[in-house]
Amino acid sequence: MSKIHQLSPHEAQKIAAGQVVERPVNVVKELLENALDAGATSISLYIQDGGKKLIQVIDNGYGMDRQDAKRCFEKHATSKIRSVDELTTITSFGFRGEALASIAAVSKVTLLTKEQGATEGTRIDAQEGTISAKPAAPPEGTNISVSDLFYNVPARAKFLKKRETETRHITQMAQAICLGHPKLHFQLFIDDRLFVSCPSQDNILKRCAQLWEKNTARHLIDVNAANNQRGVTICGAISDHQWFRYDRNGIFFLVNNRWVSNYQLGQALLKGYNNVIPHGRYPTSCIAITIDPSLIDINTHPRKQEITFANPRIVQQLIQDTVRSALETNVSKQIKKNISLYQPEMPDIPAAPFEHIPHPISIAETQKLPAEQTPLAPNYAPASKQDNVTPDAGDMPTSPENNYRLVGQFGKTYILIEQQEGLYLIDQHAAHERILYEQFANRFEKIPTIKLMFPQLVTCKQQDLDLIAPHLNIFQQHGIAIEPFGKDQLIIQSTPVHLKDVQLQELIQQVIGWIKDDNQIDQEQFSKSMHNKLQAQMACKAAVKAGDSLTHEQMQELVSDLHACPNRFSCPHGRPTGWLLSLHDIEKMFRRKT
Ligand code: ADP
Ligand code: MG
Repeated sequence: MSKIHQLSPHEAQKIAAGQVVERPVNVVKELLENALDAGATSISLYIQDGGKKLIQVIDNGYGMDRQDAKRCFEKHATSKIRSVDELTTITSFGFRGEALASIAAVSKVTLLTKEQGATEGTRIDAQEGTISAKPAAPPEGTNISVSDLFYNVPARAKFLKKRETETRHITQMAQAICLGHPKLHFQLFIDDRLFVSCPSQDNILKRCAQLWEKNTARHLIDVNAANNQRGVTICGAISDHQWFRYDRNGIFFLVNNRWVSNYQLGQALLKGYNNVIPHGRYPTSCIAITIDPSLIDINTHPRKQEITFANPRIVQQLIQDTVRSALETNVSKQIKKNISLYQPEMPDIPAAPFEHIPHPISIAETQKLPAEQTPLAPNYAPASKQDNVTPDAGDMPTSPENNYRLVGQFGKTYILIEQQEGLYLIDQHAAHERILYEQFANRFEKIPTIKLMFPQLVTCKQQDLDLIAPHLNIFQQHGIAIEPFGKDQLIIQSTPVHLKDVQLQELIQQVIGWIKDDNQIDQEQFSKSMHNKLQAQMACKAAVKAGDSLTHEQMQELVSDLHACPNRFSCPHGRPTGWLLSLHDIEKMFRRKT
């Protein structure tokens, strides 16, 4: 007896709907994207019971005429493409023409729509595969309500999570849409209460500040970068080194305004934060990538949540480098603003408490003043006990870098400095790393080297040796004389003086790793990034470590070398080199001040 029979079109559509609609958030996404595709500048979203009871989207977009309003629920009905070839240049969110058909198959839909400028609108009720249309008089735009999701597919309904969980997914999606469209005026009502109201903004940073709680917003840094050759730009906002979350839910990537999840992009972002925030913590960020649509494939996932890049490395590298340098610049800027290690002298000895001291002038500004024009008096202001002042402070009164006293080393890790504003702590490793990095970067051709009495032999796999052999000149340019030795060894005959006692095995292995990682990037960029990374790594290896005892002279030298560095407020990885415990805060802790 034959067993095969054809499913009714409606049953087949209910099954197919599962590809597009698995849970309420998928419906929300499709409806919001339709509104955006219709050119809406204002969208309101209403959710009830986690979207299980109601999802309603009201937009002020183009609207539809009656015929389109009926047709839009048919399978493969779309106004957005005519052939698959157009996918390579598509800029709309939708293109498959299956969202509304799927949604209508598994819920009760009411659509009210009116074209811009039309005199009459339409109301459509779609349920159980039947559609009824009648005239109506809604405002211009489209108002679509999706009720009782999966009321007719109990097998799916039972997989829906509780209200809070579904709502959380929806708010995350709504955030992503807002971030991708800063100019959009957006409102979200959850169970009849206004949850988010976002008037139009002109950039992502402002949008982030608007969406995220005040504390996050204060820690946001603007990022902007481009690889013009490859036609990729990124812009957005990332949290600084003082802010982190315990999960990845604060990380958003948009590609051509489309919210995507892509593991590699996340990894690139986290690499940019390497050593800046603790392991297992995550930043808050929104990075919008703009790329030629022909260089991505958005059609790899049924719900278009994942995309594939033709050349993922380019984008990843751009993200990683931009994040790293934005963090580094930010730390420098912030510390410069808050602190003035080597602060200029105050006019006369202040009788007033420290908080009456005018805000410190940044070192960059003071350096522009010739000594004789400086309006500042030469005395080290608060020094009622002159023996606290560094011995030569009086000799070079106008030189601001003498305006501190080295207290000593703390925990064999920090150098303590007394200055007018408070107690300044320098992280000896981070500071030394910065100093050496600048030296390696600026003077790498003239860096003093030393011939090793006992050359170092580094053993590595033969295929790694083949990989690194063409790049040994990079080491040579940094004062490391290295060459192949036999079929699986390298011999190092001389190194920069600072590295003479450092085992270089790990450094070589790291370089091999970078070559493996980066080999798709163009030559010039590759070599630039290798130089930078090698300099940072050499600096890290050669720098004094936490736990190293330092003499007073060594500390003095470190502090004055640090002062000479242009980016002295952060190490090459973006960690701060120093921090101020302000006198004001100390006094507050001792309740001398309020
Ligand atoms: P797709 O978005 O892939 O084209 P959908 O099923 O989501 O498919 O929508 C079908 C069609 O209905 C769209 O191509 C569009 O023409 C029309 N449409 C849907 N939503 C709206 C809206 N909010 N405003 C105007 N037109 C819409
Ligand atoms: Mg659509």
